[in-house]
Order: sequence, then C-alpha cells, then structure tokens
Amino acid sequence: MRMDDGFEMTIDGRSVAGSDFIDVINPATGQVFAMAPDCSPDQLDKAVSGAKKAYLSWRSRPLDERRDMLIRASKVLAENAEALARTFTREQGRPVQGALVEIRGAVDWLRAVSQMTPPVHVSEDSDAQRVETRYVPLGVVCAVAPWNFPIAMAVWKMAPALLAGNTIVLKPSPYTPLCTLKLGEMFRDIFPAGVLNVVSGGDQLGPLMTTHPGFAKISFTGSTATGKSVLAAAARDLKRVTLELGGNDAAIVMPDVDLDAVAQKIFFGAFYNTAQICVATKRLYVHEQVYEGLRDRLLKLAKTVKVGDGANQGTVLGPIQNKRQYERVLGLLEDARTNNLTILQGADVPTNGGYFVPITIVDNPPENSRVVQEEAFGPILPMLRFNDIDDVIERANASDYGLAGAVWSKDIEKGVEVARRIETGTVWVNQNLNLRPDTPFSGHKQSGFGVENGIEGLLEYMAPQTIYIARA
Ligand code: NAD
Repeated sequence: MRMDDGFEMTIDGRSVAGSDFIDVINPATGQVFAMAPDCSPDQLDKAVSGAKKAYLSWRSRPLDERRDMLIRASKVLAENAEALARTFTREQGRPVQGALVEIRGAVDWLRAVSQMTPPVHVSEDSDAQRVETRYVPLGVVCAVAPWNFPIAMAVWKMAPALLAGNTIVLKPSPYTPLCTLKLGEMFRDIFPAGVLNVVSGGDQLGPLMTTHPGFAKISFTGSTATGKSVLAAAARDLKRVTLELGGNDAAIVMPDVDLDAVAQKIFFGAFYNTAQICVATKRLYVHEQVYEGLRDRLLKLAKTVKVGDGANQGTVLGPIQNKRQYERVLGLLEDARTNNLTILQGADVPTNGGYFVPITIVDNPPENSRVVQEEAFGPILPMLRFNDIDDVIERANASDYGLAGAVWSKDIEKGVEVARRIETGTVWVNQNLNLRPDTPFSGHKQSGFGVENGIEGLLEYMAPQTIYIARA
C-alpha cells in the first residue's frame, strides 16, 4: 500500500472522499502537508446506517471467525508498519522509531485481544432450573480518539468492539487523521462492509457523533473537559459510555534509589512522546536526600537528548503535536516565569515554525502553582521536594485526576506499600508507562469512567443477558 496517495474515509465498505477537506499540519514545520476528508452529516448517517445493517450478521458470526479477521488485520498492519510510520511521524511528530513502537504494539494488541473469550456464568444448574448469564454485543459503537497515540487508541477500541460482535464508526482527532484513515483502507477488505467505518473531520464531527441516535455505545479517549460533554451527550439516549481522560500523574522517588539506575527511566517516564502521554509522570516528588542528585541527572539528559523533526536521524523527541497544545504549554511556561519560579531548560530546539519547546524542569515550585496543579501535556515537569512519606502521599492524592502513578525505591515491599496508597487506576513500582492488553486500565476520579483492556474492557462492549430455564 502506498502511503503518500489520497486519504479517504471508509464508509460501509467503500472508499469515500470528503464533501470538504481539513488541513493536516506537520508539527515539525507548522506547515500544511496533506488534506483529510471532512465528513458531512449525511456521510456520517450513511456510516451509521451501514454499521447498523452490518451489525445484524456480524453479531451472529461465530466468535472464531471474528477472531480470525482481527488476526488478519494484525498481519496487514505488520506488513505496512514501516510505510505507515513515516506518515505517522509527519502528522504526529514522533520520531519514526517511536512511531514503529506504537504500530508494532498495535499489531500485538490486535492479536492478544483476538484471543479473548467473554465468560459464561452459571448461577444454578439443578433439576429445577439452569440460570445462565452470557454477554451479548451492544450495537454500533462510536469511537473517538485523541492525537497523542492515534494508532494505539484506535486499536484499543476497534479490537474489543469488533471481537464482541459490535460494528464501529471510528473518528481520529482532526490533528492526526491520516494514519487512522489508512487503517480503514488497510482493513477494508478484511471485514464485511459496514463493520469497520473510519470517518474524519473538524471540530464539529465529534459532537455530531456523540449525539447521533444510531449509536449504542461511545468509547472516548481525550481530555476530562471533553469527556464531561460526551457523558452529557450520551445521557439523552442512555448510550453506554467508556471514558479514558486526562491525568496529572505523580511519581514518588524514595531516598534509597540508585540514581544512576533510575534517572533515565524517570526522564523518559516524564518526557517520552514529548510528554504527551496520559500516564506520563507530570509531578515528580523527590525525597530531599536525593533531590539535587536526581535534578542534576535529569537536567544533563535534557541537555543531551536531541529534540527536533522526527523525520531526521538521531531525533529522540519531536515537537508538540499541535498549535493549541503548544500555546497551552507556552502559557504554563509564561506563568512560571511571571511567578519567578526556577526554570531549568535542556538543549536549544529548532526555531523554524515547528511547535518546539525545550525540555523544561521547574525546580521545586509551590504546590499550588499552575504547573503542578494542571495537566501540562507537554515537556514542562515540576520537581517537588519532600521529606515525609505520609505528607507526600497526601500531596500526590490531592488531585481531581486519578489515572496513574509511580513509586521508585530499592525496597520493593515499601514501594508496593506506597503504591497501594495512591488513588489511581494504575501504579508502577520501579517502572513506568507499561500497559498490557490483558490487564484492566481504568482512570479513577475524573480521569475516567469505565475500563479499557482486559476482559473487563471487552465486557464494556457487551451487556449481560441471563436466561432462566425451568426444568421441572
Ligand atoms: P480532546 O478532548 O480535545 O479531543 C479528543 C477527541 O474528542 C478528538 O477526536 C476530538 O475531535 C473529539 N472531540 C472534541 N470535542 C468533542 C465533543 N464535544 N464531543 C465529542 N468529541 C469531541 O483531547 P486531545 O487534546 O485530543 O487529547 C489530549 C487529552 O487526552 C489529554 O487530557 C490526555 O491526558 C487525554 N488522554 C487520555 C488517555 C487515557 O487513556 N486516559 C489516553 C490518551 C490521551
């Protein structure tokens, strides 16, 4: 498959051009480099009605046939990984190697999810009756994805939704539509017409979808603010909803750590993908005994890691993905400057019109400063000193978010004890950013609603149906 040809939607098994177009910008240059279709309301209706029609036969296919198609999809994605990675880098900004990590991760994800089987529970099996609960699909799924991990987030939704027997209309972010449109194209001949639809468009398309009466379920990943609008939109028809939202994840570094062993891991736990990861470390609490040592090591890394155009050899971190996010990060930096916070910065970044910000550490800002309280979603990390474990856990938990967190300590038992007290859906001890297809991922508090991944995530695309059979 060629990746530099036109980008079209997949609607009811066909390739469909937009009635209009949206610009796609390369964040490393700030320049428009491609156009993506802008799905009209009429085209969306066609996608939903095609998906509804396809649902009737898709849900009754044997599970093994649906599994096989997901495995075929994983193979096609693997075959196209390199070409897709180049498109990924141009639209998302991440260096090609990192793009490949995401694409190959999605290949594994498709394969792993394809092997899942929804459970059947038997509550009673006696001479009098059998009571059996199994899980049935919901209908047409509306899937809305963000721009930071466009392929992974699309696959996290598509794989369980389709395995469960639903059909889907998938919408990427307006900032990163191209790779997802290519996924639709790659998989078009694998799934029956109408099973997988991919539409793209501007800011109006998301609300048009979440209020569309044809959907039974919304699976949304994005910011907490948008998640609240999505939940409100879903209420009208009582659509089922899964929301994976923002985070302001704390990492706690205990005094016993081996700084040389952990500094690089902590650095990339905060700054990988230019810090645009929902589960990145966004507040770094460091015990006073190791504070300066860690700060100096992180700053040294910030000065050596190459930030630039992801298409260039040797680039480790790319630009911020879009102008809105770039301006938001610049705003946080400005706020830190205005409040005379100590700002430490890494190497210079290109000044060519791309959305680049140097890697920035804010040295022990007050707990109530914006850079600590808000999700930056960009390379500006507050480092905060602590000397009392109960106090730091209270500070880590003093957030409306509850997505993930990390604890770094040589004493694993102590690390786990601290991890258990952190009020988030995922906590890592001496590692970071590690997520698995077979393990539930769930934001607590305002970081989410429901679960993705694992059997629990699969069951979010299904409803229990209990059958009582009298035998007497
Ligand atoms: P966003 O909320 O601005 O947009 C996400 C998606 O929603 C996009 O496709 C957008 O077009 C669409 N959208 C916007 N307004 C809508 C509306 N009113 N109704 C329906 N759809 C609408 O988020 P973003 O800026 O693309 O992504 C960054 C955010 O996503 C961060 O807060 C990050 O933490 C979060 N995120 C969370 C996870 C997770 O798994 N918890 C994963 C990745 C990103």
